Amino acid sequence: MFVDRALITVKAGDGGNGHISFRREKFIPKGGPSGGDGGRGGSVVFVCEEGLSTLFDFRFQHRFEAQPGENGGAKQCHGGDGKDLELRVPPGTLVFNNDTGDLIHDMQPNERVVIAKGGKGGFGNEHFKSSTYQAPREATPGEKGELLNLRLELKLIADVGLLGKPNAGKSTLLAALTRANPKIADYPFTTLSPQLGIAEIDAHRRIVIADIPGLIEGASDGAGLGLEFLRHVERTRVLVHLLDIQPADESDPVENYRMIREELRRHSQALYDKRELVVINKIDLIPEKAAREKEIKRICRELELRLDRDVLAISGAARTNLQPLLERLWKELNPADEVEGWKTSAPV
Ligand code: GDP
Ligand code: MG
Repeated sequence: MFVDRALITVKAGDGGNGHISFRREKFIPKGGPSGGDGGRGGSVVFVCEEGLSTLFDFRFQHRFEAQPGENGGAKQCHGGDGKDLELRVPPGTLVFNNDTGDLIHDMQPNERVVIAKGGKGGFGNEHFKSSTYQAPREATPGEKGELLNLRLELKLIADVGLLGKPNAGKSTLLAALTRANPKIADYPFTTLSPQLGIAEIDAHRRIVIADIPGLIEGASDGAGLGLEFLRHVERTRVLVHLLDIQPADESDPVENYRMIREELRRHSQALYDKRELVVINKIDLIPEKAAREKEIKRICRELELRLDRDVLAISGAARTNLQPLLERLWKELNPADEVEGWKTSAPV
């Protein structure tokens, strides 16, 4: 369903050429052949890393080349081998040859797989020397490194599910949080289109977020999200329950919260039981600070939730408090990280 895709070209290094030369030393008037072999070209190696979850790195760079081998030299000097180029990919990345469509490899955690092989180095003339052939004037060129057009595919699993009533601001928030919108492939569902985005906190921390557009909207008349999508979002680890602080229809955010919880309970026990962060959205709608804080406090009190522990207040449109929201989600998803980072205050 959600598939992150990338088309890339990988080129392994060419082998270095063999060299032709003859020894020229004092006292050895007719030295033998001394041309060294070329070095081997570097290979393009895929390394499967458990911490990765997207193909984001392949969005901006599409061509990857490993180092060529060095040419052989005089005095039996062998050319150095080219360095392998390692490309890190997340587990479950399918590597296809894009020209033939063949699956080359399905990357499993911690695997190291040579995808494009470096060319062998050519032979220098020293290599061709024999008892009957003492002055060979031949050397061979290095072999070409493999060149492959690849298609990478990864089934994305969302870490965070975004839910709330229609108009709570889910789409706006997803757009504000994420830079990459992966292509959604083969999604059989037509009337509501789920959105998936990749939020990038920094170069090493990414969160895949799925907008859950109305579990409820169509559910009653049978047009709800397909079972497949439901199954997908049931694998998310954290839910963000978005509440409009001042709904245009003048409904009460507290009532809206309860309504969504009730719908969740009815449609998916798995989602109902999931860890949930309540996020009060559109706080820009109440510009006056005291009034805004009063309303936030009221919502927390009535829901018996604590501000900053269970509840955050943000504005998706005005981009207020989005970074704290992402940091908070990251911590929920990676509790072990807390040890290295700052300490959060212990729940009272
Ligand atoms: P969704 O139905 O939950 O996906 O909500 P949308 O993202 O489509 O937003 C619904 C409406 O609320 C749109 O008119 C948005 O412009 C508006 N909206 C979304 N986020 C904010 C916000 O943070 N502040 C304000 N003032 N309006 C917002
Ligand atoms: Mg929407």
